[in-house]
Amino acid sequence: MLSSTPAIAYRGRFAPSPTGPLHFGSLVAALGSCLDARCRGGEWLLRIEDVDEPRCPRPVAEDILRTLAACGFAWDGEVLWQSRRKQRYRELLDHLQSIGRVYPCACTRREMADSQMAADGAHIYPGTCREGLPPGRAARAWRLRVDDVNVGFDDALQGRVEQRIARDAGDFVLLRADGYFAYQLAVVADDADQGITHVVRGADLIDSTARQIFLQRCLGVPTLAYAHLPVVVNAAGEKLSKQTLAPPINAVAPAPSLCAALRFLGQSPPPELARAAVAEVWDWALAQWSLARVPHRRAASADFFG
Ligand code: GLU
Repeated sequence: MLSSTPAIAYRGRFAPSPTGPLHFGSLVAALGSCLDARCRGGEWLLRIEDVDEPRCPRPVAEDILRTLAACGFAWDGEVLWQSRRKQRYRELLDHLQSIGRVYPCACTRREMADSQMAADGAHIYPGTCREGLPPGRAARAWRLRVDDVNVGFDDALQGRVEQRIARDAGDFVLLRADGYFAYQLAVVADDADQGITHVVRGADLIDSTARQIFLQRCLGVPTLAYAHLPVVVNAAGEKLSKQTLAPPINAVAPAPSLCAALRFLGQSPPPELARAAVAEVWDWALAQWSLARVPHRRAASADFFG
């Protein structure tokens, strides 16, 4: 269903959701994915994950692009914007519908309030509309019909991860009740269409990976290699984000943040590099990067490393 892409040994990507300015947590994901790609002779692409348009204002995305450029990141090709890909997502949803893989769901959040929670905080769908909409009810969302199978993968940092998605996530939403496509569909479509081979991202997404692999199988596209970096948490143990008031990266003098991100990722830049030019930081990082030195844990505090 998805176009076949040219075989390339390594094509990575960074895919920020522009809900707020680039902060230390997103810098870590950008740096880890970029260095891993470049040090293995690979390409590195940039995608703006603004599929959830109301939460992703255009000026915020543009600010992220400017900050990444000021930090010395250079991406291959054009930036891909999810907000421009709705037709493609629709095509894939139609295809999944034609093979009986998706079904309309009428359930409201309130109706699902009693169902179990998945690791990512979403409700595990109890299957109410799986065999058809209840009489008199209209479709709100569209869900993927998942099989009761184990989906596993070998994460380059976190080791073997297994999920029984029917039990641990349930039939998940691909088209939301508010009319926007869900992240899971967009990310799988984009990774496949962009010919991505390796995903290096924060471990907050590790619980989504089995669902994404299952969806890749439904669409007949290759499964990717995954490495989930430790997520940066604040002193209260919360993931850095706009909601937790993470400060934006200083785009005027980014070398100290780049060095702190390298340290967070287990690398050992010399202290004087924090006062060097951005290009020098990159020269050092490209020569010294080792994925094997990245801590094999799902979260770590920025204060400890920073
Ligand atoms: N857009 C997601 C984020 O900003 C990343 C998605 C991904 O890397 O798959 O957290």
